[in-house]
Amino acid sequence: MVVIGAGVGGLAAAARLAALGHEVAVYERSDVVGGKLGRYVRETPVGTFRFDTGPSLLTLPQVFADLFEATGAKLDEYVDLVPLDPIVRHVFAPSTTSSTTVLDSCADPEVFAARIAERFGTEAADDWRRLWRRAERVWTAAWRDVLRRPVDSPRDLAKLSWRLGDLAAIAPGRTLRDLGRRHLREPRLRMLLDRYASYAGADPRRAPAALAAIPYAELTFGGWYPRGGLGTLADALLSRCLDLGVVVATGSTVTGIEAAGGRVHGIRLAGAVAPVPADVVVANTDALTLYRDLLPTPDRLAGLTERSLAGFVLLLGVRGDSGLAHHNVFFPDDYDAEFDAVFGDPGRGVPARPVADPAVFVSVPDDPLVRPTGHEAWFVLVNAPRQGRTLGGVDWRRPGLADAYADRVLDVLATRGVDVRDRLVFRELRTPNDLAGTAGAPGGAIHGSVGGLLRPANRGPARGLFLVGGSTHPGGGLPMVALSAQIVAGEIGPA
Ligand SMILES: Cc1cc2nc3c(=O)[nH]c(=O)nc-3n(C[C@H](O)[C@H](O)[C@H](O)COP(=O)(O)OP(=O)(O)OC[C@H]3O[C@@H](n4cnc5c(N)ncnc54)[C@H](O)[C@@H]3O)c2cc1C
Repeated sequence: MVVIGAGVGGLAAAARLAALGHEVAVYERSDVVGGKLGRYVRETPVGTFRFDTGPSLLTLPQVFADLFEATGAKLDEYVDLVPLDPIVRHVFAPSTTSSTTVLDSCADPEVFAARIAERFGTEAADDWRRLWRRAERVWTAAWRDVLRRPVDSPRDLAKLSWRLGDLAAIAPGRTLRDLGRRHLREPRLRMLLDRYASYAGADPRRAPAALAAIPYAELTFGGWYPRGGLGTLADALLSRCLDLGVVVATGSTVTGIEAAGGRVHGIRLAGAVAPVPADVVVANTDALTLYRDLLPTPDRLAGLTERSLAGFVLLLGVRGDSGLAHHNVFFPDDYDAEFDAVFGDPGRGVPARPVADPAVFVSVPDDPLVRPTGHEAWFVLVNAPRQGRTLGGVDWRRPGLADAYADRVLDVLATRGVDVRDRLVFRELRTPNDLAGTAGAPGGAIHGSVGGLLRPANRGPARGLFLVGGSTHPGGGLPMVALSAQIVAGEIGPA
């Protein structure tokens, strides 16, 4: 069988399928594996800097432990996971009534509530506890019924025999913003909750309230850093695949899927004369690439209209010690302006645009493996419109735009109290257009299309065709992607 793409989903599916006795070949267009879980190494006179260009936080590591176990290995023999506290340091801008406020999240809900009480008062902490009880119900129902099994259609969702309490917690039709408004009087806690919509690539004002499951998982089961960087996870997955006999061909672009009579027969490779025969094809490409380019399927394509946001990334070699936490987010005054800019309002003729005053996420791993002594390797991420020349995108290739916007982000950071401009050894940029090129992600969208509990199905329209990865059910982010591989392997079954 064939897997198209060696992102985390493709490698995880390949390893699971090989462990089930299948002969698996993975074709990856890039020269390296990992997809969005990318890396960048910079040699400088002061030493070597190593960066993750994509994920910086691992949640639900148990999902990866299960994956390795299912393939006959132990995760901790491959990666050295360090639990983080704080998981994220939230820095809120000063207002007319308050100075800059810092709130550290952690994996102990009671400790976190106590930190909230200390910063914002006991009422705010009680509000959070109430929200948390609700988020727990959402998480429990999602974990039990949605995240580990195929959900192919609205009918599948409707068939789930959710208890009334679960349904009330999930609140279909309500947004994450509604949920924050209903439970949280403290505006800065609402901002904190809103940010989790962007974990799914969405606008909190449109994202479903069910996304409360994301902070629940992060702030209950913890956030982790693999020593040496998140990229070590891609190495681990590749090594697992190779040990199980999977053939991984990099530099191999799949240009089409052969299907006739309602089932797949193989794939076409760029530059190859004959198709590669296969009775099962697992596509780890974005669902948009699959249904637009590889196996044009207009009705499935039609469902992929609302695209995820993208990201603008600065990789900074920095002199000295900034005293920052591992993960920091510096919020703006007006968070809504960020989502107005990132998505625009194409229906009303309002174009998407780079965010003038964005929330700035800064990851500074305290890890000697990734930076020379006396220096730091910073990953800076802001939400950004995807690459595109229509109203919903920005053409990041415009001469001077990326550099000017990087200057802007560094200026914004300086206004938020972190001025790194005179401590830079170098800076390297990654725009949505770059991600589109390196990871084959249309428009550089991080999570494909956005959706609630219903995303593109793991089963394709032809027999033997399956979809795995962040643009499909159950969603984006490393653990969800690994779960999609588990679902697909379960659907295919043993050889
Ligand atoms: C900036 C950024 C920050 C992120 N932060 C986090 C985080 O902190 N925590 C977290 O959990 N997640 C995070 N994510 C999301 C996470 O990286 C993704 O959800 C996950 O890596 C996606 O994996 P995937 O299996 O969908 O494959 P992808 O990574 O999308 O890989 C798909 C692969 O398919 C290949 N491909 C595409 N087309 C073809 C073709 N025609 N032929 C052959 N190969 C093809 C591509 O080259 C690529 O290697 C982040 C992502 C980004 C970009």
